[in-house]
Amino acid sequence: MVFLLQYIYKLLSTLSIKLGTGDIAKYPFLNEASDYIRETHFDFEEFNRPEMRHIINRAAERMETELISGTIYQKLDKYEVEILTFLVTLMVAKYIGIGLILKKYSLFEAMRAERFLSEDLKKERNEQRKHLLLSKIFEELFKVTVDVDSTDNRLFKVRVTDYLMRASHFHEQEWKLINRLVHMGYVYLDAEETVRLIRSELSTLIYNRVKSMTLSTFPETIKLKADELRVKLVPKYEHSIYRVTGYYPPCIRHALKVMNQGENLPHSARLMLATYMLAIGKSIDDIVILFHNAPDFNEKITRYQVEHLAGTKGSHTKYSVPSCEKLRNENLCFATEECSGIINPSQFGRNSKNYNG
Ligand code: SF4
Repeated sequence: MVFLLQYIYKLLSTLSIKLGTGDIAKYPFLNEASDYIRETHFDFEEFNRPEMRHIINRAAERMETELISGTIYQKLDKYEVEILTFLVTLMVAKYIGIGLILKKYSLFEAMRAERFLSEDLKKERNEQRKHLLLSKIFEELFKVTVDVDSTDNRLFKVRVTDYLMRASHFHEQEWKLINRLVHMGYVYLDAEETVRLIRSELSTLIYNRVKSMTLSTFPETIKLKADELRVKLVPKYEHSIYRVTGYYPPCIRHALKVMNQGENLPHSARLMLATYMLAIGKSIDDIVILFHNAPDFNEKITRYQVEHLAGTKGSHTKYSVPSCEKLRNENLCFATEECSGIINPSQFGRNSKNYNG
């Protein structure tokens, strides 16, 4: 009965009040911000108008602060300015087209929102608004139910399963379930801890927004600003971008290209890449770096997996490179004439003076 009353109270709360424009300014990834763009019939070509210069410069300033200075952009303006600034940053990131830069930018934007959200959850005295924020961000975007503790409104409770799904990726001891307050199937967290749980999902959401953007043309002003930024950013990120310089078979070149773009590679392609690199004598460190741009990169896990394939961990069996036939069946083969007569990628180019092995 108590739960039912709490549920009805929460439902009524979210129905009777709406997000304020200040919230949309802080959280421009919310659906309400997209609704604003749609409802105002904003045309991207309007970014070419002189009065939009301020927005474009502000977007560049935000990206430089995050990607060059490595700090969270703190400024907060009116919601119209924030929504458009955010939109420009997404378009600039898309136009620059370097996966690693996009990944870093998405992470900083998630951390910016995280900072606003933990402050809001700590300071908000109006319980209805607090519930609304929780419902709009945690439930609508990430399907996580977060409740405010009925006896102490500074505490939030999350189902153990939801907690473990996220916190198991954190390495600090404090996130281990044994170190948390757990009661009746819920984990109790403060505002900062609660918001920290969704950092990675928030970052992925922003990353995917850019990835799924389909623009036939970009406004000229955005292209110019993106080119200026690219010149500043590339030297900083160049060392992290793996160059495809070796003489590799087409399937491996393709996998490296996908990886460089910060795209997700299927498990079978990762296995092919790692076993091939091991077969041609690359070190474990060199192979781990290859996976650096993967959206879900975790150095510890990647190292363990590569060591496992190399036979130095786990079963102590060294894995072979999958055959061309197997790779063809998995849609990982991009054969060219140079592949004729070989049955395994490790045989590629053996008669060539450029051979890596
Ligand atoms: S034929 Fe073999 S080496 Fe060539 S692209 Fe296909 S899988 Fe790779």
